[in-house]
Amino acid sequence: MRLSQILFVTLRDDPADAEIPSHKLLLRAGYIRRIGSGIYAYLPLMWRVLQKVSQIVREEMNATDAQECLLPQLQPADLWKESGRWDTYTKAEGIMFSLIDRREQQLGLGPTHEEVITAIARDMIRSYRQLPIHLYQIQTKFRDEIRPRFGLMRGREFIMKDGYSFHVDEESLKATYQDMYQAYSNMLKRSGLAFRAVEADSGAIGGSGSTEFMVLAEAGEDEVLYTEDGKYAANVEKAVSLPADTEISPFTTYEKRDTPGTETIETVCQFLKCSPTQVVKNVLYQTVYDNGITVLVLVSLRGDQEVNEVKLQNELTKLAPQYSAKTIIALSVPNAEAQQTWTAKSLPLGYIAPDLGDEYISSSKQVHPQFVRLLDQTAVDLKNFVTGANETGFHVVGANWNEQFKIPNLVVDIRKARPGDRALHNPEQTLKSARGIEVGHIFQLGTKYSVAMGANYTNEQGEEKPLFMGCYGVGVSRLAQSAVEQSYDKDGIIWPVAIAPYHAIITIPNINDAQQVEVAQKLYTELNQAGIETLLDDRDERAGVKFKDADLIGIPYRIVTGRAIANGKVEVVERATRKSQEIVIEDVVTTLKQWIMAAIEVKN
Ligand code: ATP
Ligand code: MG
Repeated sequence: MRLSQILFVTLRDDPADAEIPSHKLLLRAGYIRRIGSGIYAYLPLMWRVLQKVSQIVREEMNATDAQECLLPQLQPADLWKESGRWDTYTKAEGIMFSLIDRREQQLGLGPTHEEVITAIARDMIRSYRQLPIHLYQIQTKFRDEIRPRFGLMRGREFIMKDGYSFHVDEESLKATYQDMYQAYSNMLKRSGLAFRAVEADSGAIGGSGSTEFMVLAEAGEDEVLYTEDGKYAANVEKAVSLPADTEISPFTTYEKRDTPGTETIETVCQFLKCSPTQVVKNVLYQTVYDNGITVLVLVSLRGDQEVNEVKLQNELTKLAPQYSAKTIIALSVPNAEAQQTWTAKSLPLGYIAPDLGDEYISSSKQVHPQFVRLLDQTAVDLKNFVTGANETGFHVVGANWNEQFKIPNLVVDIRKARPGDRALHNPEQTLKSARGIEVGHIFQLGTKYSVAMGANYTNEQGEEKPLFMGCYGVGVSRLAQSAVEQSYDKDGIIWPVAIAPYHAIITIPNINDAQQVEVAQKLYTELNQAGIETLLDDRDERAGVKFKDADLIGIPYRIVTGRAIANGKVEVVERATRKSQEIVIEDVVTTLKQWIMAAIEVKN
């Protein structure tokens, strides 16, 4: 394309509403335009990038047995009611846009497609002979995110590749999951990204079957914990570790102590001259299930540890059936105002013990009359510990489980793993922390949707069995922006060659110089004919402006038809390294071809 002919507008200054480098650069360089909160127009340069990413994704998917299709974005509410997700998605989490049509039918705009695909599988898959089957699509998704931000990173309308596979059993599902692990690694490598595959939270359905693909970048919303031996990497939401060793308790007998003004772990440890590893702290949570029932939760854990709220939420979700509920819609540490709604008397805050009595809960239909008591597994071994006395201003010391305090029924892993912790697989390895942008997530769903929606097949013995299912998502638009987040400098974007909108840009320093124009035109034609996607900057602008724009939009190779043409050469500058060399005009096509091929080739 000729820049003089296309919509090409760049901005000199950073747009006010953009926070992270990639968002600023994509706006400034004219790749995207904000239309509303979390809603962006993909302008022609961006669309080319998105198509390149999509193509890489498509090729890697097609290299497995997956088949491309396109599912509807308008989804009948009935399907979501069958899976039990309609209320959570439209009301509780509120992530799904919903509407009512002229026939008074409820519809949702697809945030994801498990329901649609399971309905298709239910209708079309009859026999084990048809399995496994894997369908995928590349399509716009809609999600009413609470905090749309960072441009394409968290949009309310964005492009995703989502795929769903169906199997006779877990073994077959695992095989496809492994193929996807490889396909996703290939996609990211080919897109020129530095990434890490990490163990991810799979929600309450648990299992080991979920991996996130994280592009490493400071602006990432996720924290990854990993070991340097390369054997462990997990999202902090899921990560496990060995806690620091406990110190020996200075207390040998159980007694109640007057500890005024020691509401925090730090102050009580100072006061009693003990280590936080010898304290059992008790944290109060409040959760609301989808049937409106509020349940109060008391989490007991070592004083030096923190609650991992994702793990907590998973544990509480597992308890939902006990309260005749399906899932959780809210989880929080209740503030004073929230406490007032359920406390029968004022809580000894800062001095709570693991056996805080249920009589603190006032009787109400909406509130369950008993605490759920959870103990983190690392607090079980504590001896002679310190904890609250259920009385403001007092603690007890020298306490022991099964003596003064009953061990709660639920002993679970509920603590946050932290950087510096020792790794489980090898205590000599310590966890390190990195920031990541989640660009992909692969997931072994099992039979969750097939059971809920009655999607069965007949096995070799003629029995009806629920389909095993996996799902696999890549954020195509998020991936494209994260490439920028990983690769830019003070002058602009540096696209990886494989996903750059164009490979090369020819800059004519002076369009009034007929010879410069002629050489440029000729190269422009030849390069494009040779399959090297080339832009021609033939605008009537100062050379400096054109160079700045070329740097800003981040095209990998810039060809300048300047002074060197007197010697039959042009200057070629590599954007990433700024290395410049003069190349004989006749050699430009072959040289660039080689460079581009070398850059795109996957380095395994
Ligand atoms: P997140 O935790 O970032 O909200 P998610 O767990 O909701 O992501 P999935 O439902 O697994 O994401 O969707 C698959 C992929 O789609 C994600 O890995 C991500 O790359 C992309 N994605 C999800 N939400 C958005 C969004 N709001 N904007 C852009 N891409 C998104
Ligand atoms: Mg999300």
